[in-house]
Order: sequence, then C-alpha cells, then structure tokens
Amino acid sequence: MTAPGARRRETALAYSGGTIDRASNLRTDPAWVDATLAAAGTRVIPVWQDRCIVSGDPAVPVILPASGAGAILEASVETVFLGLDDGAGLFAAELSPLEGSRAVELAGGERALDVRAFVSVLAPPEAALLGYARGLLYWHRHQQYCGTCGSRTSSGHGGHLRSCQDEGCARLHFPRVEPAVIMLVESAEPPRRCLLARHRGSAPDGFSTLAGFVGVSESLEDAVRREVAEETGVLVGTVTYQGSQGWPFPSGLMVGFRATAVTEAVTADGEEVLEARWFTRGQLTELAAARGRLGREDSIGRYLLHSWLEETG
Ligand SMILES: [Zn+2]
Repeated sequence: MTAPGARRRETALAYSGGTIDRASNLRTDPAWVDATLAAAGTRVIPVWQDRCIVSGDPAVPVILPASGAGAILEASVETVFLGLDDGAGLFAAELSPLEGSRAVELAGGERALDVRAFVSVLAPPEAALLGYARGLLYWHRHQQYCGTCGSRTSSGHGGHLRSCQDEGCARLHFPRVEPAVIMLVESAEPPRRCLLARHRGSAPDGFSTLAGFVGVSESLEDAVRREVAEETGVLVGTVTYQGSQGWPFPSGLMVGFRATAVTEAVTADGEEVLEARWFTRGQLTELAAARGRLGREDSIGRYLLHSWLEETG
C-alpha cells in the first residue's frame, strides 16, 4: 500500500485505486479463509460503529497483526475477509456492540474516528481499504434477517454472502451498492460555462454539482437527464462517463458524468435545489478562491469541477 500521508492531487479520487486482491474465487472456501486468518502476516482492521480506531495526530489507523489480535477476534461479532495485500490476508473485525472506550482499548488505539474525518491524510488506496471495511461491516449489521421470510441469516464466503437459515427459503443475500449519478453540466454555446446548484442546507455561496439516485430500471444516462431537468429545468443531450467512486457511506457508488445542455433557462425546484446558476471558468475560479475549495474534499464532485477548470478553451 502507499505510505500514509501521501497527498492526492485535486483530481485524484478518494476511496478509489484499491490495490488489494479481493480473492473472490478463494474466499468461497471456509477452510481457506480460516487458514488465511491464522497465517503469519495476516492483519486485522478493527471497526467500531462505522469508525476506524486511530492513534496520533494526524490520525493513523490501527491495523493489527492477527497473531496479536486474539482479544479483538474474540470480541468481534463479525470477522470478514477483505483481501490479500501482497499475498498477506486482510480482515475487518466488527466491535460495534462494545462500549466505544472498550473497543479503543482492545485495539490499543486512542480514539474512534470516521475515515471521512481524516481522509485528507490518507492515500486513496488506504482510504479505499478503510471504506471497504466500513461498508462491508455496515451491510452485515443491516442484513441480519432475510428480507423474504424474516428468518436469521448467517455469513459465508468470508463475509461476502449471507444465507437465510430457514431451509425452505434459503435465500442468498449479497452485499448491495446503491448507484447515484453526479454530473457536471456544461453549456453547449460559448463561452463555456458549467451549471452548479446550491442545495438545501448549504451555505449562501455553497454551489456544487448536481447529483441524484438512479431509479429502478433506469439507465445511468437517463438518470442524469432526469435529475438535471427535475432540479434545474435544464435539458441535457450528450452524457459522457467521467469516472466512478466507491462511496461506502453507507453503501453508495458515485458515477460521474459530463453532460451537455441543450437548453439554458434555469428554474430551481425550490425543494432540493434552492438556486442554480451558470458559471464561467473565471467565476468558478473566483468561487474557489472565496471558499478556499470546490466541493467536499473527498468527493467526486470536486474531481469533476477541478477537471473542468484545468481544461483550456
Ligand atoms: Zn429467508
């Protein structure tokens, strides 16, 4: 993994670039998972109520050798296999039922901290790993019962499957991700401008990219067109994929697009979006200078905005 503290560029995506081998063909064998947990070099990430256990300032996440994590593995209510890092096993241990102070003490850390609170000092692959641990354990906590028959479920495949324990049902549940689209809408006519919106609850100058969840039986491109039209009244034509970002807060996948407007008249919906405006590159640069940043530090929205600003023309 990349050394902690390696800062990413403005256009690098947080929680992306995970470098571990998820070994999905091996983790289906429980004997292999058990042997990997017991192997020399295997490490364990303790997680308490969606938070890492950390030490120091800036925070460094606690990741322990499994050989010295007996008390954690004993206290863990769900130990899941994450993958192999240079051949060595990586697991996450769920400590949420414990008192927070007890979880921190067991892990030998100083405090519990959400990965989003210290993502700025993490390299993207490290943030991806911590987010992966958080997201997978969150799923386990919320899939304890079968959605079909209500019976208890049990974990399998190293923590990547939960099976209904009712023999007549036996439904298999796999971790879910919920896709959302996020888009930078660009004007078709010069001067080139982008459409940003101020959402309910944001600061008076808190303009950001548009975003929304994908509907049932809806393509990503159609979701982009629908969300932009609903929130701003602007119609868009061409929709081009820009990149994606795992977003385990708690179970999202952000899919980023550039979209070209075919109309320019703006009508904010007044519900989710209080105001929407077109910005030239100069105006966006001024906004960035006034606010000290564009978008949330770890968001793909920031990536879309900075990528657009860095282009010429
Ligand atoms: Zn069931």
